[in-house]
Amino acid sequence: MSAVDDEVPFRILPKVTDRNRFFWTGGAQGELRFLRCRSCGTWIHPPLPMCPACHSKDVVPEAVSGRGRLHTYTVNHQPWMPGPELPYVVAIVEIVEDRSVRLTTNLVRCPIDDVRIGMPVRVVFEHHDDGADGVWIPLFEPDPEG
Ligand SMILES: [Zn+2]
Repeated sequence: MSAVDDEVPFRILPKVTDRNRFFWTGGAQGELRFLRCRSCGTWIHPPLPMCPACHSKDVVPEAVSGRGRLHTYTVNHQPWMPGPELPYVVAIVEIVEDRSVRLTTNLVRCPIDDVRIGMPVRVVFEHHDDGADGVWIPLFEPDPEG
């Protein structure tokens, strides 16, 4: 796992709250984190105060491996808003721990002609310093070991 060392593009940053801080700051430790139910083991995303499977409130952030697969994607050619250099890949990635846990993210460091549904990917973090909380945006790149 490595940091994105390319020039950091402008992004609309997420609003960090007490409920989602573990997610947006996990990259400081190189960790992609999701809530997990300690009663039944269900991974929960987006964050909820209660397990949707067993209704336990014993849910805590836990790091996953950072590995996943590309569930689906689109290529954005349109400058809808300030953001990464065009074109770029908007990806839905499912994590290897639970295919039902999916992140909407960007696929980076991958020529668009090489993008394939189902390809193994791994997380990389793009750090933004917004003054208060630093934010680490989880992005994904092809996983050569996947
Ligand atoms: Zn549960």
